Amino acid sequence: MDAHLLSRRRVLAAGAAVAGLALAGCATPGGPSIGRVVVVGGGFGGATAARYLRLWANVDVTLVERNPDFVSCPLSNLVLGGFRQIDSLTRGYDGLVAAGVKVVRGEVSAIDATARQVRLADGSTLPYDRVIVSPGIDFLTDQIGGLASPAAQERFLHGWKAGAQTVALRRRIEAMPDGGLFALAIPKAPFRCPPGPYERACVVAAYLKQAKPKSKLLVLDANPEVQSKKALFEKAFKELYGGLLEYRPNSELKEVDAASGVARFEFEDIQADVLNVVPPQRAADIARSTGLINVANRWVGVNWLSLESTAVPGVHVLGDAVFPGPAMPKSGHMANQHAKVAAAAVIQLLKGEPVNPAPVVMNTCYSFVSASDVIHVASVHQYNVEQKTFVPVQGAGGVSAAASALEGRYALSWAENIWADMLALQRA
Ligand SMILES: Cc1cc2nc3c(=O)[nH]c(=O)nc-3n(C[C@H](O)[C@H](O)[C@H](O)COP(=O)(O)OP(=O)(O)OC[C@H]3O[C@@H](n4cnc5c(N)ncnc54)[C@H](O)[C@@H]3O)c2cc1C
Repeated sequence: MDAHLLSRRRVLAAGAAVAGLALAGCATPGGPSIGRVVVVGGGFGGATAARYLRLWANVDVTLVERNPDFVSCPLSNLVLGGFRQIDSLTRGYDGLVAAGVKVVRGEVSAIDATARQVRLADGSTLPYDRVIVSPGIDFLTDQIGGLASPAAQERFLHGWKAGAQTVALRRRIEAMPDGGLFALAIPKAPFRCPPGPYERACVVAAYLKQAKPKSKLLVLDANPEVQSKKALFEKAFKELYGGLLEYRPNSELKEVDAASGVARFEFEDIQADVLNVVPPQRAADIARSTGLINVANRWVGVNWLSLESTAVPGVHVLGDAVFPGPAMPKSGHMANQHAKVAAAAVIQLLKGEPVNPAPVVMNTCYSFVSASDVIHVASVHQYNVEQKTFVPVQGAGGVSAAASALEGRYALSWAENIWADMLALQRA
């Protein structure tokens, strides 16, 4: 057999094994529709689920998303450093429309699991047989004194949902005087993207080093230590940004004052030129109002074979909103993998057939430590029957030996590939 054909078949078979579908199930959808699925949220999880439902079966899929376009959080820290523009991280939903997904721009205001319908803020309703919800996160602003007020949220931007806040934060960093102070407040774990804050610190430091070298960057971490790729980030802090960047663990933000700009941390008060506050997080509002949150008052518990909520039948939940398996990160890559397991399971359930009993998912997170050099962490997670959750496969994955520009190229390819995968885009 031709080597190219062999390797191509192996790759396809591996992809199908991950998702839990036999290759025969990958044929172009035909015949009558097997059911109606509404997907709430067109981010990493929701867009992927919508795309793969259409790819693998003849399902009527409607995707509801409040924003006109998808804006990627991965690579958004580069916008803060001035190394990319937000437009370069923005993609439309046309690929999904071409794949047969009905894309509705709107705000989902309620999910009625008894009547099996999704209600939109404009009063319209969408009936479903199964609903997939991947709404991401919202913030526990009331856990930081003073932060619940609109004035405080305007003054202390999070930039933790890519878009308008990313651009506004970049403008403030640009407007900082040389010799100014940028401070980043990191909440206690778990939060969206464990390496994200440390990447942000590095990339903003790279900009300051080059454009405002007398400035200082303070990383105030509520956690006792760096939460991901620790040794690699610590090396970058010291070797690339020593003298400019200072990392302070066990520094939880307690209170902010919007009028004066003063922020009270566990052991000190800070007044920065730019204070970037990443607040503690929970599953997004629609998960809460639907009664899906049932773990620690923050996250959604799911049956990991189908991603169906353990609180509300017929509702499948993906991505950052979910209470994760052990060592499973809240990442775009992982949301994409959740979506494939869920799409395969929903198709089986609509057909009245059993779901795959042994799914496997994986994750890779790249982080920029400068404008060009990158480190990664990778892991593989396999469903464990006794524990009824995904557990890490020992010996699989790992971290980079050192930061490199080669990994920088991999990181950019990873982003283009995952956007193409989730949004059914043609790669140039
Ligand atoms: C700075 C930063 C860097 C990151 N870097 C990486 C990285 O390098 N690699 C990686 O894998 N991950 C990274 N992440 C994490 C990644 O962005 C998230 O894990 C991922 O977005 C989670 O996908 P999701 O589908 O759960 O949520 P999202 O992608 O946030 O999608 C949720 C969608 O639902 C929509 N929505 C919510 N509620 C409603 C409603 N009621 N009605 C209509 N629409 C609604 C939202 O508008 C949103 O589009 C990063 C995150 C940040 C903040």
